[in-house]
Amino acid sequence: MKPFKGERIFTPGPVELPDAIREVLGRQIIHHRTPEFTQAFLETRNLFKKLVGCPEENFVFFASSGTGAMEAAVLNFFREGDKVVAIVGGKFGERWAELGKRWGLEVVKLNVEWGKSVDPEKVENLLKENPDCKGVLVQMSESSTGALHDVKTLGEITGKSDALLVVDAITALGVYDIKPCEWDIDVLVGGSQKAFMLPPGLSMLWFSEKAKERLTDRAYYFDISGELKKQIEGQTAFTPAITLILALRESLNILLSEGMEKVEKRYRVMAEGVRRAVQALGMKVFPEKPTISLTAVFPDELDADALRKEMLKMGVRVAGGQGKLKGKIFRISHMGMDLLDMPVVLSALELALKRLGRDIKLGSAVGAYLEAVNE
Ligand SMILES: *Cc1c(COP(=O)(O)O)cnc(C)c1O
Repeated sequence: MKPFKGERIFTPGPVELPDAIREVLGRQIIHHRTPEFTQAFLETRNLFKKLVGCPEENFVFFASSGTGAMEAAVLNFFREGDKVVAIVGGKFGERWAELGKRWGLEVVKLNVEWGKSVDPEKVENLLKENPDCKGVLVQMSESSTGALHDVKTLGEITGKSDALLVVDAITALGVYDIKPCEWDIDVLVGGSQKAFMLPPGLSMLWFSEKAKERLTDRAYYFDISGELKKQIEGQTAFTPAITLILALRESLNILLSEGMEKVEKRYRVMAEGVRRAVQALGMKVFPEKPTISLTAVFPDELDADALRKEMLKMGVRVAGGQGKLKGKIFRISHMGMDLLDMPVVLSALELALKRLGRDIKLGSAVGAYLEAVNE
């Protein structure tokens, strides 16, 4: 029953690679201390600049997974003893709090029930109570619960304060048309294996002028000031992830030639379709305000992991729940997918439910999806 073409990956990282990117990844390596690399690197930076749409050159790429850039944000923009608010509504929010503590920050946790989105008013009140607060750390898209946090409104709040708004946009950048300068975001973190449709190993960190003034020299490998000086000239302080940089150029070309507005719209349509599809099967969408990058599904009394196992037998991989949601939910990623890819995962879901003895009407989820897409 496993398809001869291999497993289809519908997980929120890594995501499937477009053919044009796989072609770049298969090429012979080039040396990085060459004019050829410098030119490609500068082109890549230019495309990234277009993606974020800010005039400054305030961003660096690191050879690391996304968490490396999160750690870089904590180290480069905060000093020991600095007070920060970490919004903790899932596994990745917890990561912000842990990172802050590890590097000696005073972390004030704002706990949000898993699956809910943070109430910006609570952040505003916390900042009023803590005028010495130097930062607010949040996820735009909390991949562990599928919830979307309203970073635009948070930017309006932190913009009036001394605090930097630090956004983990690892499953948002490349999906949403994020405008960090207009939204008053101070630090924006992205990762290659999510919406950039690349293998893991590359992270991106963009920062504002307000953040730039606070740069520290606490990091060595992740030293943003040192990196930025080099990267503006088309080089890197250490050996870059050469092949991933060349592939990022391709990824950015793909995203920008579709146009981020259209990319976001496509994901919006897909997300709406998938939500209606799972609801047509009598299941619930887990988060209250879902991100369009993925759909976290709560299959009620059904064991989510048993369902995933059935789907995997058909060669379709979706992700499970993390932390306290293990076995309770499953997550379907939309990242790197086209409109007509989603019926594959929905078909597997329908068949898996049938095989687990559920009385469902075959075609109901796929039908609901297609109806939604057709609107
Ligand atoms: C995947 C992910 C991360 C972690 O990225 P790694 O590349 O695994 O280090 C962090 N935050 C969010 C929201 C993610 O989805």
